[in-house]
Amino acid sequence: MERTRPVVLVAGLGDTGILVATRLARTCSVVGVATRPALVSGQELGTRLVDPDRWRRTYLVPFRRFRHLDAVRLVHGRITAVDLDARNATVTCADGTTETVHYDALVVATGVSNGFWRHDRVQDLAAVEAEIVAAGAELGRATTVAVVGGGATGVSVADNLARTQRAEVHLFHSGDEPLPGYHPRVRRWITGHLHRAGVVVHPGHRAAVPDGFVGDSLTHDPVAWSTGQEPFAADVTLWATGRVRPHTGFLPPAVLDPDGFVTVDDHLQVPGHPEVFAVGDVAASDPLRSSARNWGYGVVVANVRTVVGGRRGRLRRYRAAPYRWGSVLGLQADGLTVVQPNGRRFRFSRRIAERLLFGSFVTRYLYGGLRRDPTP
Ligand SMILES: Cc1cc2nc3c(=O)[nH]c(=O)nc-3n(C[C@H](O)[C@H](O)[C@H](O)COP(=O)(O)OP(=O)(O)OC[C@H]3O[C@@H](n4cnc5c(N)ncnc54)[C@H](O)[C@@H]3O)c2cc1C
Repeated sequence: MERTRPVVLVAGLGDTGILVATRLARTCSVVGVATRPALVSGQELGTRLVDPDRWRRTYLVPFRRFRHLDAVRLVHGRITAVDLDARNATVTCADGTTETVHYDALVVATGVSNGFWRHDRVQDLAAVEAEIVAAGAELGRATTVAVVGGGATGVSVADNLARTQRAEVHLFHSGDEPLPGYHPRVRRWITGHLHRAGVVVHPGHRAAVPDGFVGDSLTHDPVAWSTGQEPFAADVTLWATGRVRPHTGFLPPAVLDPDGFVTVDDHLQVPGHPEVFAVGDVAASDPLRSSARNWGYGVVVANVRTVVGGRRGRLRRYRAAPYRWGSVLGLQADGLTVVQPNGRRFRFSRRIAERLLFGSFVTRYLYGGLRRDPTP
């Protein structure tokens, strides 16, 4: 008699949820709940705005193209409640119906809201496309752009917009150097790089954010500064202040930290609930909450297999890097620069980045192979 496979519910199929679901589908019965029928990555906002076709190739991928999602039951909707004792999740589906999913293990990978490019709204592909086109068009018409926020997103947007030479681009940030959380050498390098790219960088500017505004739309009014400078008027202002809001409203407060992120231990397991894991931006895994890019998905996949398999094997530990790392500016005409936790950086030529990094590593290794899209 065939043994029934354990049911693993993956909540959220973004950058990390997709990696977890595709791997666990080999040994478990996986249900993936996704707000959109596609991977819509929050990465590389700069290239998304100025080179959307290139961005789409890696970061907007309909689920039907993932070979390894064939074995996953996809539910298009949003989880609205979880009963951790009964192991049930309630999903409000895109068609308005409600479904209850019973699970043996739950992986929370619902990410965070950040600006207009990361959210938990239920959408179809047409709505996703419309958002991408609208933001790009609005910025494309501007002759002066203000970018508020010196993290990876703000820097990526300012650099990519300035390189188009269609607008004067001003980047405002509150510290001495952009990219907090990155190695000091990376922070020094980026300041010089932004100047060379033509970005006017304004350190020491902390924006007075209008009451109730969470930065989820482009704005047109002058920006005021709580640090005392004169207000700055640009045709368009993009807010990338890093005020992230975790998507955890469906979980009981007992499993959340004071900021609303999911509390996890070294195994990315929720204390007191050995069958519940969290990974990605939603997981309070380390001060930088960096389990997405530090291969947390591999830790969760191994540990879920151990737990649902009833094995007593040692669980894998998650190790965070001391500084943020990765690509900040995205793929450019002169290649792709990747910064390291130790402050070093290296550049792949555009050809190598296209072929080896995006073609082989991301598409084949990380995504497990993609079908050509018959309706691009
Ligand atoms: C391998 C890898 C490499 C990376 N490299 C870089 C890099 O070089 N540079 C860089 O800047 N960043 C990099 N990143 C990280 C990236 O910046 C973010 O950390 C990552 O996009 C966050 O992924 P996530 O899955 O946590 O969230 P998201 O990708 O935002 O996915 C969360 C999903 O869950 C959905 N959701 C929310 N609430 C619910 C709900 N109630 N029910 C169902 N679904 C819900 C959301 O709508 C969203 O679709 C990398 C990430 C990975 C995985």
